[in-house]
Amino acid sequence: MKKKISLIIALLICLSAIFVVSSPVSVKAYDAQYPLIIVLDPGHGGVDPGAGNGKGGNEREINLKIALYCKAELEKDPNVKVYLTRTTNDLSDKVSQSLKKDGKIPLSARGNYAGKMHANAFISIHCNSGTSSNARGAEVYYPINVTWCPNANYVGKGLSASILNQLGTLGISKRGTFTRTTTKPQTERYPDGSLMDYYTVINSARSCHVPGLIIEHAFINNNSDYNAFLSNDQKLKNLGVADAKGILDYFKTNNNKWLFNDVCLGRDWYSECVQYMKSKGYISGYANGCFGPTNSIQRQDFVVILANMKRIDLSHYNYKSKFPDVSQGSYYNAAVNWAYSEHIINGYNGGKFGVGDSLTREQMVTILYNYAKDYLGLDVATENTTAMNFSDFETTSDFAKDAMVWAVDKGLLSGYANATLGPRYKAQRCHVAKVLMNAELKNLINPVFVPPEPDHGEPE
Ligand SMILES: [Zn+2]
Repeated sequence: MKKKISLIIALLICLSAIFVVSSPVSVKAYDAQYPLIIVLDPGHGGVDPGAGNGKGGNEREINLKIALYCKAELEKDPNVKVYLTRTTNDLSDKVSQSLKKDGKIPLSARGNYAGKMHANAFISIHCNSGTSSNARGAEVYYPINVTWCPNANYVGKGLSASILNQLGTLGISKRGTFTRTTTKPQTERYPDGSLMDYYTVINSARSCHVPGLIIEHAFINNNSDYNAFLSNDQKLKNLGVADAKGILDYFKTNNNKWLFNDVCLGRDWYSECVQYMKSKGYISGYANGCFGPTNSIQRQDFVVILANMKRIDLSHYNYKSKFPDVSQGSYYNAAVNWAYSEHIINGYNGGKFGVGDSLTREQMVTILYNYAKDYLGLDVATENTTAMNFSDFETTSDFAKDAMVWAVDKGLLSGYANATLGPRYKAQRCHVAKVLMNAELKNLINPVFVPPEPDHGEPE
C-alpha cells in the first residue's frame, strides 16, 4: 500500500513537473548515469591536416593524441564519460564515419554531436599557428555573453579559465581566455535574435545548449613552443592531462563533490543559479546529495535561505518559537524566529507556521516585496506594469498584485516561455534559486550603501 501511495505521489510529481516546468531552455529529464559528460573534438582530421610546423608535425595527429590522453585522464573518474568526434586520423572510426563529409568533419557537425550526446561541455582541441613564428603560448575561446543560452557563457568562462590555469602550470605562456562575436550580424543570430558566436564549433554547440570551448594549446609554428610542448608523446600527454585537470577542477566543487547529483552544470538551465547559490553557501541539498530542482519549496526552507543570504547571526534566535509546529531543535527554528520577528513572514490564522507547506510563486514574491519594503526600507514604487501584460496576471491574488508588478519590474521573475506568470503555481526550488540569485545581484537582499554627499562646501 505504501508503495502504491508513493507511486501515485511520484506520478503526481511527474505530472505537475510536466505541467509547471517551463524554462528558457527546454529541459529533458536526463538519465544521469554520469554526472559529467564531455565531448572532446580533436580539430581537423581526414583530408584536413590543420596547421603544421613544416617538418611533418601537424594538428591532425597532435590534436588527436592530446584528446585521447585527456579522455584517459578524465575517465579515471567513474563519474565522467567522454566522447570524441573522431578517434582516428583517417576518419575510419564509427563516429567520424557518421559525421564526415567530403573527407573531413564539418565544423557544425562537431558542435551538434555534443548536443546529441547531452554533453555538459564541448571542447575543441587545437594548436595555434601565427603569421609570424614569434607568437607563442596558449589561449582558450569561450561563448560570448548574450541572452541565448546564457549558461554557455557562464560555464564557458569559468571552464576556460580553469583549463588555461592548468596549462600554465606546464610553463606555457598564458595568452588569455577570449570570446569572439560574429562579423555577420545580419545573418548570424541565435533563435532569440542574439548575435552568434564567431566560431562555428562554439555556436553549433551553443545552438544545442552546450557550452563550447576552443583550446589553442601552443603555437605549432613557433620553434620554442613546439620543442617544449608538442614534440613528443609525453609532452602531448602532459597537455591532455592538464586539460582534464582543468575540466575536473571546474566541474567539481571545492570540497571535491559534484554540484548535486541531480543538477548538471551546463546541461540544465537552472544550473548556473543553483551553483551560484550553493557556492555562496545559501542552499544545500538533501541528505542523498540531490537538490530536487523541480520539487516545490517549503515555507521554512525559503526563510532559511533568506536568512543565509542576509547573513543573519541566527545564534540570537534560537529561542522557542511561538508556532506549535516549529520545534526548537529543528534546523529552521532560528530562521523562522528571525523572519517572524522582522515581519518578513507571518504564520497562519490558526496559529501554525505551516512547516512543510509549499510556497506559491505569488507568496514567494510577496515575502520578497515585504522584505524589501518593510525590512530594508527600499522604495518599491514602480510605474512599469509589464507584469499586467501576462495573460494570467489577473489570476494573481489581490494581496500579491503589487508584489508581482514589482518583482517583474525588478527582473526577479520573467514568467514562463508561454508568457504566463503562474502566480498560483507552487514555486519550484530551481525557480527559487533563480529569483533569489536575481534579487541578490540587483542588491535587493543586501542593498549597497551609498554614502550621502557631504552637505557642506569643500574648502576652496
Ligand atoms: Zn586547428
